[in-house]
Amino acid sequence: MEKRWKFSILYYLIAILLLFGFQYWFVSKQIPEISYKEFKDYVQLGAVDEVAIGETKIVGKFKSWKSIRETVSDTTHPAYQKLKTLLKRRPPDVQLGFKVVALEDKELLSLLEDHDVNYRGLVESNWFETFLLYWVLPFFFLILLWGYLFRRMGTGPNVMTFGKSRAKIFAEDVKNKITFKDVAGIDEAVQEVREIVEFLKNPAKYQRLGGKMPKGVLLVGPPGTGKTLLAKAVAGEAGVPFFSISGSEFVEMFVGVGAARVRDLFAQAKQKAPCIVFIDEIDAIGRSRAAGPILSGHDERENTLNQLLVEMDGFDSSKGVVIMAATNRPDVLDPALLRPGRFDRQIVVDRPDLNGRIAIFEVHMRHLPLADDVDVKLLAAQTPGFVGADIANVCNEAALLAARRGKDRIDMSDFQEAIERVVAGLKKPNKVINEQERRVVAYHESGHALVGYYLPHGDYVAKVSIVPRGVAALGYTLQTPLEDRYLLTREELLDKITSLLGGRAAEEVVFQTISTGAANDIERATEIARNMVLVYGMSKRLPNFSLSETDKSPFLGAPPREKFLSDKTAQIIDQEVQEIIDDCYRRARDLIIQHRDKLETLAQTLLEKEVVDRKELESILGKPQHQPKSDGA
Ligand code: ADP
Ligand code: MG
Ligand code: ZN
Repeated sequence: MEKRWKFSILYYLIAILLLFGFQYWFVSKQIPEISYKEFKDYVQLGAVDEVAIGETKIVGKFKSWKSIRETVSDTTHPAYQKLKTLLKRRPPDVQLGFKVVALEDKELLSLLEDHDVNYRGLVESNWFETFLLYWVLPFFFLILLWGYLFRRMGTGPNVMTFGKSRAKIFAEDVKNKITFKDVAGIDEAVQEVREIVEFLKNPAKYQRLGGKMPKGVLLVGPPGTGKTLLAKAVAGEAGVPFFSISGSEFVEMFVGVGAARVRDLFAQAKQKAPCIVFIDEIDAIGRSRAAGPILSGHDERENTLNQLLVEMDGFDSSKGVVIMAATNRPDVLDPALLRPGRFDRQIVVDRPDLNGRIAIFEVHMRHLPLADDVDVKLLAAQTPGFVGADIANVCNEAALLAARRGKDRIDMSDFQEAIERVVAGLKKPNKVINEQERRVVAYHESGHALVGYYLPHGDYVAKVSIVPRGVAALGYTLQTPLEDRYLLTREELLDKITSLLGGRAAEEVVFQTISTGAANDIERATEIARNMVLVYGMSKRLPNFSLSETDKSPFLGAPPREKFLSDKTAQIIDQEVQEIIDDCYRRARDLIIQHRDKLETLAQTLLEKEVVDRKELESILGKPQHQPKSDGA
């Protein structure tokens, strides 16, 4: 792009120079300049037909050679000979022009009168020339220079297309088409996106029963997990026009440009429907309007965001325009964007687990010459916490290393070193967990899972994972109640607390020490226990006795406030809460000690596979004795 621009500026310069050169050549060829002396001689000779006299120059016309020959008698005059050579090679009835640099000469007019030369005044340089030369040209050059500089800076507008969106249609790039085959390890996200592609390819089929196409789809996930890649794959697969623009491109330095771009983008999209509009890094425009310093002047971004909201509301999805967006900061997005009718469907693009990483390694190794000793499973096992971009980076680095060492094939040692380099270069080293930490996390999560699984009223354990997630969590155990519950019994609450404490209990049993990893569990467990005592009146010593103010505050979900309490009551509350927690912790510990062998198996499986689903969980822990609850057990 930049190169082409440079190229065209060169064209302009050459064209202008040529123009000037041509004009200069043409004019000078046509009109010979003669000296003042010669000019007077020609007048006296009677060879001049008419002149125009300006301040600095005189231009004039000779009579045609034919009439000169007829009228001039003194053919021996030196001026006659000179004129002869000047006019000789031209057609005899053409009147040749000439120009002279003007001198101060009071007798010129009478001389002209005497020889019957027609004369007039001359306003030098007409307005058009002046205008062009002194106004248009410099302006033109300035604009050219300006646009050029902006281009070089890599930002800024194309001079010609201020308000135009710069959305690229990249489905047309047939040669380097990216398809779902290039996206690995995020199968769930691919599956959801595939549905949308199907919808666009065949809207009638899906609308037959009144189904509505989703209007906006938001891809959410940490950086480098393949959100942009996934969108490109959609473009490659969809077979419909695909407009792609990055959020940061909307936010320009000129007021109103962002909003104009949005308008233009949607106008284009509507014309090309069915199609997909993809807004990458939407957080650049979609940041919450409430957040941020008040005086920072983000009006421009806000206008853009408002325009986007207006446009999204303003068309209906049955026309076949689907808007996709990607972000790694869903937390900062303006809530208005997530409202129904806008980006109401979210697709999580998460960090890949072990199998996912194997698949991603395989994708990026497809075109690499590999030595026989390359063990993809081992590589994937050595890179917990890596995202797709990291793995792509490892493969590239390994290829470079092998080439530098003059090898024909990339072997395991190259990959090993590449991993070390990439780890060293990661901005977020805390996400790459060391072996000991991984073990702790594995036992901790196994503890949650095992306790939750064996408790009579524990929530359904759907999945255990030690793939790091979000900002803080190093692993998670997915426990979902099988049904929506509005009433919870005392036993159920106690079991909730117990399974929350299962993680820490497992750490203590296995490692004889505890870590900070359980902070969030303990916070949640304590909150439930406090509510049991304060709100639900479930304690032994203060039963059926509400100790909190009923919630009269206008804000929903505000935490219950304590009534005015005597010191003694406050003490009893604290003791009660402590007792509940202690009891639950003891139960969790007992369960873990009782099933120590199974904890061991589960933790080892986790270390190996990173994710254990319900089916495998059942095969490790045995059929549940108490679940599902609907059995009435
Ligand atoms: P994001 O947009 O989520 O930050 P990108 O899509 O830009 O991440 O990923 C950067 C690069 O990393 C991709 O071009 C691709 O080479 C590689 N990559 C990321 N995720 C994957 C994946 N799931 N499968 C294969 N390659 C991936
Ligand atoms: Mg991206
Ligand atoms: Zn935990």
